[in-house]
Amino acid sequence: MKILFATSEIYPFVKTGGLADVCGALPPVLHQLGAEVRLFLPGYDAILKNLKHPCQIAKYNGIGTIQDARILFGILEHPDGHFPPTPAYVFDSPQLFAARHPYIDEHGRDWTDNHIRFGAFCHAAANLVHYDPLWRADLIHGHDWQCGLIPLYSQRLASPPAGRIPKFLFTIHNIAYQGLFDNWHMVGLGLSWDDFTPTGLEFFDRISFLKAGINYADYVTTVSPTYAREICETELGCGLQGVLKNRRDHLCGILNGIDTQVWDPAHDPYITKNYSFDTITKKIDNRKSLIKEFDLRIPTDRPLFGIISRLTPQKGFDLVLKITPQLIAEKCALIVLGNGDKDLESGFLALQEQFPHQVKIINAYNEIFAHKIHAGADCILMPSRMEPCGLVQLYAMRYGTPPLVRDTGGLADSVDAYQAHDNNSPITATGFKFYRDDAIDLLKSCQTVIQSFAVPKVWKALCINAMRADFSWDISARAYLDLYKKLVG
Ligand code: ADP
Repeated sequence: MKILFATSEIYPFVKTGGLADVCGALPPVLHQLGAEVRLFLPGYDAILKNLKHPCQIAKYNGIGTIQDARILFGILEHPDGHFPPTPAYVFDSPQLFAARHPYIDEHGRDWTDNHIRFGAFCHAAANLVHYDPLWRADLIHGHDWQCGLIPLYSQRLASPPAGRIPKFLFTIHNIAYQGLFDNWHMVGLGLSWDDFTPTGLEFFDRISFLKAGINYADYVTTVSPTYAREICETELGCGLQGVLKNRRDHLCGILNGIDTQVWDPAHDPYITKNYSFDTITKKIDNRKSLIKEFDLRIPTDRPLFGIISRLTPQKGFDLVLKITPQLIAEKCALIVLGNGDKDLESGFLALQEQFPHQVKIINAYNEIFAHKIHAGADCILMPSRMEPCGLVQLYAMRYGTPPLVRDTGGLADSVDAYQAHDNNSPITATGFKFYRDDAIDLLKSCQTVIQSFAVPKVWKALCINAMRADFSWDISARAYLDLYKKLVG
């Protein structure tokens, strides 16, 4: 089966969040399972630099007034071996993609031409049936709003090719990002007003790329079963609940996996001491070096809490800001790796100033520190208000660092919560959960972490259970493959 895998981010080349991790890890596994996968990517610098044997297969002069755009075909490969050689089409347009952050300018504002950047990207993906008549995809698997217009352009091709156009599977990684643009861009995007309807791509008089993806796709997935339910039934659908309910029979959730080679405490080059579940006692050396590197002061029987995240209101870290003084009173410490929302950043900076040896914020995006914190912290906090899947808790478990999560989306599906238990029953939990979007609830759960941490037998069982949980891509990739087969028929 031929699959065109279209995405605007792919680890280890271009990453702003979990989308990149998924799109970097899933295609190689699909390939191992027998699918013939080709990528379709925007021509960011990092992609062009790593595209081997590129050749131009077509000039692009579809929509917009874009100079010198073309479709390249080559083999995408990463020099450090983190990404196996994979055939890729690249939509190369220096005007749209060169020397730019994928979505925002240096002031954090969306690029003003995002509609045409990703509109043309979608248009080019849909037209690949013309650009490369020798390789016709059976199915296009597109991700998030940046790919939302592909099925509409496919269905409205000016000169449809003979035979079937590819089926389209649309995966929503986060419904809060919808690709909303003013309606006068319909013309520039080469779209017909006939599609500017509530059952098409119109959303409160604007163009919604995401809604187009939902309405015109053959099938829609999201990244966990609980999130699939939440977006249909609650305000987590961000206004699209009704649209999703209409497509309920063509919607399901498939939990993300993780790249178990990139995230492997037994071979991780960035951490002080490698370990696996039978040598988990070595994990303590990673805690020690983290404490030393950041000059933290914390007794050995108190947990070091960690945060690795974009700092956005969605992630619920305002709750952590509220309870940190109580955690410090309990002699715990907190290390935060993240940037984003200015209020959250300054909240953590203020706490760091107040408690310089108990709170540390690394106000940056840094992959190496992410690995060090997964290995060195004792508990990773994810108090998210909504979390489609969440990868950080999966990485944390892989590193034997039980996460404390709010019971939502993929956090609900992936973490088995610790319950106070009698001494005779075995511990099966892999982490901790709290339920209400509430600081007191979070604090109570942190106190359970503190009490459990003080009992080595309990803590060790939790860490080992977490490490043993299997979140490799194999299971999820098979679920995608089954779906592809069902759709292609
Ligand atoms: P989201 O996609 O909402 O950002 P996920 O948990 O699904 O959340 O994925 C986040 C990804 O981004 C993980 O790979 C995580 O390690 C990484 N990440 C987030 N913030 C940082 C940071 N400041 N430094 C390094 N990695 C980060």
